[in-house]
Amino acid sequence: MNNSTLALVDRDLCRRFDISGPRYTSYPTADRFAANPGAQLLVDALQDRPASDQPLSLYVHLPFCSTVCYYCGCNKVITKDHQKSSRYLDYLEREIDMQLQSLSGSRSVAQLHWGGGTPTFLSDDEMRRLMQILRSRFDFLPEGEYSIEIDPRSVDPQRAHLLADMGFNRMSLGIQDFDPLVQKAVNRIQTFEQTRDVLLAARDAGFKSISVDLIYGLPKQTLEGFRTTLEKTLSLSPDRIALYSYAHLPQIFMPQRRINDDELPKAEDKLSLMAMAIETLVEAGYVFIGMDHFARPDDELSLAQQAGKLHRNFQGYSTHAELDLLAFGVSAIAKVGPVYAQNAKTLDEYYGDLDAGHLPVRRGYQMNDDDALRRAVIQELMCHFELDFAPVNQEWSIDFEDYFKSALEELQLLVAAGLLTIDGQGIRVQPKGRLLVRIIAMAFDHYLQRDRQNVSGGRSRYSRVI
Ligand code: SF4
Repeated sequence: MNNSTLALVDRDLCRRFDISGPRYTSYPTADRFAANPGAQLLVDALQDRPASDQPLSLYVHLPFCSTVCYYCGCNKVITKDHQKSSRYLDYLEREIDMQLQSLSGSRSVAQLHWGGGTPTFLSDDEMRRLMQILRSRFDFLPEGEYSIEIDPRSVDPQRAHLLADMGFNRMSLGIQDFDPLVQKAVNRIQTFEQTRDVLLAARDAGFKSISVDLIYGLPKQTLEGFRTTLEKTLSLSPDRIALYSYAHLPQIFMPQRRINDDELPKAEDKLSLMAMAIETLVEAGYVFIGMDHFARPDDELSLAQQAGKLHRNFQGYSTHAELDLLAFGVSAIAKVGPVYAQNAKTLDEYYGDLDAGHLPVRRGYQMNDDDALRRAVIQELMCHFELDFAPVNQEWSIDFEDYFKSALEELQLLVAAGLLTIDGQGIRVQPKGRLLVRIIAMAFDHYLQRDRQNVSGGRSRYSRVI
């Protein structure tokens, strides 16, 4: 589908349906996981892996940052002290070995992601050490996707080459906004030249897909200033662009209290920023993948979407079919078979659990058949914007229209608004519904429906669409 001709942004619909909702990087969403499920939940899941040659996906959370960006909602530790990161690597190694004691099945790896925090807070030696810890325990496949989130303020061209030598072949770079006034207001000073130099070096070093992050809705942002940011970004031709909406939740995220509310764009201005940004990216030839992601037509995400082979996981969209995900470090979430397991969120808890000789699992969930079915339905809608009933009926032995009768009834309001169509064959999200696809997915979320019946609401915990 060529979305250059499609009207993705219907301002009236965006205003009308700008409600808060999950981003569905997992289903059930992480806030539904039970507290203190016990480390045995993950141990059993690791032991139950079938003896197939299905490779693994690995996630490592590296929480350290040397300065704080005021918009930040991540789990991070602000420090300049490398003794802390060195100690953290000791514990990561222990955690990895503890998980390996229980792991059945293949140890080959097709995907690796270092997220944070700022993974490139680590020194060169620390990064080499961590990669060595992983490579000595797992078998990295030659064609795998090995990605790292980098902060261009802590990576020069030489380091970009080092990352490539270490085996990374995908990179995502934080930009947010190049406007100096916005950068000052959010305490993230990063020049265009810094960003350009590292991106060009990464390309030169052979990185296959380079993604950049932008945020609209930041303090002091103007249409003119953000247009310049977009033009500068497009001059670098990144393979992917993530365009996030800033969610101002100072009651939840402490650093956001340092943002002056009066400097934030008003709701209507934020909508204009979003509309302008989407129009600019689509006119430049980028394909709207879904949620907040855009990709060049020749990028593997665009190709996977066209082929009906896109997936969604904790890192967003992915070309890989679902692999068991092992996760290491504070707050990291694993998914092994039907089990989700999230680690302790603070360093003290994380270290304490490992010192006590058990995995630092603090939240978890074991999916049932209904969860797995709903997860598949939500994933299909979020990735491909359409869903045929027949294959779902066949795979899950259900009658879709009967099983999801109340969801389909609830969606009639969105059908009437033109966001989607439903007929006897299936569901098709219309172009102007694509931006709001999570609202459509919410109809299939059992836990949200249950909240509504309990009158307790429960939605305010999620970010809004715009
Ligand atoms: S936005 Fe990224 S670099 Fe900035 S404080 Fe948060 S995790 Fe650290």
